[in-house]
Amino acid sequence: MEIKIENLTKAYGDFKAVDNMNLNIADGELVGLLGPSGCGKSTTLFMLAGLNDPTSGHIYFGGKDVTKVAPEDREIGLVFQNYALYPHMTVADNIMFPLINRKVPKAEARERAQEMAKLVQLDHLMDRKPKALSGGQQQRVAIARALVKKPEVLLLDEPLSNLDAKLRVETREEIRRIQQEVGITTFFVTHDQEEAMSISDRIAVMEKGVVQQFEVPQKMYLNPGNLFVAQFLGTPQINIFDVTVKDGKIMCGDVVLREGCKAADGNYKAGVRPEAFNVSENGILVKATHVRMTGRELQLRVALAKEELRVLVHSDMQVSVGTEFCVTIRDNQILLFDQTGKTVGKY
Ligand code: ATP
Repeated sequence: MEIKIENLTKAYGDFKAVDNMNLNIADGELVGLLGPSGCGKSTTLFMLAGLNDPTSGHIYFGGKDVTKVAPEDREIGLVFQNYALYPHMTVADNIMFPLINRKVPKAEARERAQEMAKLVQLDHLMDRKPKALSGGQQQRVAIARALVKKPEVLLLDEPLSNLDAKLRVETREEIRRIQQEVGITTFFVTHDQEEAMSISDRIAVMEKGVVQQFEVPQKMYLNPGNLFVAQFLGTPQINIFDVTVKDGKIMCGDVVLREGCKAADGNYKAGVRPEAFNVSENGILVKATHVRMTGRELQLRVALAKEELRVLVHSDMQVSVGTEFCVTIRDNQILLFDQTGKTVGKY
């Protein structure tokens, strides 16, 4: 079912937790809503769920205005950070609960719960109580319970926050698999950019209640619309530093980073991702100031003019603090931002 969010605003007094949001989500799409703490993600999700009334604007599910429709009549499945399973009930009873609540006959409820448990690959654990399950398994029970009523929309609010790093990765892959198998339109709230990028069809990045950009992950990573989005996506973080453009040259201090730049002469912020550098025979001379081995790569800090930049290189490079070497920056990997933070070009 497609979702349309139109001019959606939630104000608390003068403060706008969500400010004039407009998003169109396609049927079957998984959209990741991403942003720092307090940017308005949960408020948005709660409005979609009907648990929080918008101050203004509209929400449409499949073309129908549901802005004033009660939560139980919205055909949504909800999953929160804390699994909120009933501790005294078995997995089977937890999954069946929404159906029993709706007076679905027990035999039918059991059959549908079994089907859902199979989908989330927990059908062999139906008689267990939640405390005898891992965090990831508990969250899968919560997802099965959210899906058992066959909702049209699945809303997930930081569903992986309580899991350790390895389980987070496994469970997010599981969520994507289940979502694709069911084909359900899904809204996934997270503050974790890697998580959002890895499983979403598109991501919406929010800051201070305002959607900054809505785009497929790769495009957003390569073409961030502004400085905030550029800095929010990617680890280690993108390098941001002051540059001047003069006669088509992008200069960092006296060092020429690029020639043939078409931006007007003036002062800009430049953004270069740590992985955008190639070590080369000739080019820009830099000096290593920090070296960290992470396994797959070396994370360096290098001095370039007055800046200290993060640079990723292959783990087999022979480099230590004080080593001087040359780098080039790959084509289209220097982003230029104007003084308001808006992206003005890629060079
Ligand atoms: P987190 O990742 O920390 O959960 P979030 O992006 O989900 O954050 P929200 O919970 O949507 O953020 O909150 C957005 C903003 O609205 C926050 O600044 C919060 O303090 C404010 N807010 C939320 N509820 C209320 C309320 N009832 N009254 C006043 N301000 C509120």
